[in-house]
Amino acid sequence: MTTEHRFGTAINCIDGRVQQPVAEWIKKNHQVDFVDMVTEPGPDKALATGDARLRDALRAKVQVSINAHHSRVVAIAGHHNCAANPASREEHQAQVRQGARLIASWGLPVRVVGLWVGPDWKAEAVVSLASEGGAGTP
Ligand SMILES: [Zn+2]
Repeated sequence: MTTEHRFGTAINCIDGRVQQPVAEWIKKNHQVDFVDMVTEPGPDKALATGDARLRDALRAKVQVSINAHHSRVVAIAGHHNCAANPASREEHQAQVRQGARLIASWGLPVRVVGLWVGPDWKAEAVVSLASEGGAGTP
């Protein structure tokens, strides 16, 4: 059993350059031991403008992490030089904010954070939200 471990969850790009920075940011800032990774090419775009079936599929994957590991925080990350979402920094960060608001509307008992990974391949916070109807704490 893994109940003694604390978990977070990230909806992150498939890009191998962003897995570690996003996991490390969540571990450091939300005091978790492990980060479950739900990957999708261009996940900020997928949540902000993708079709409902794709968003529902991502939500179902996040729910598995919360059910199994009692994840306390869910992150959505966008990143520089994204093959699936070649947008400007400003566009990415707007999508990250929109994606975070969508996740918050799912009513999960988690904190929701939006992250940006820039050209230095370090993660930084764009937005942090309490889930609507959830019990998330920072
Ligand atoms: Zn990407």
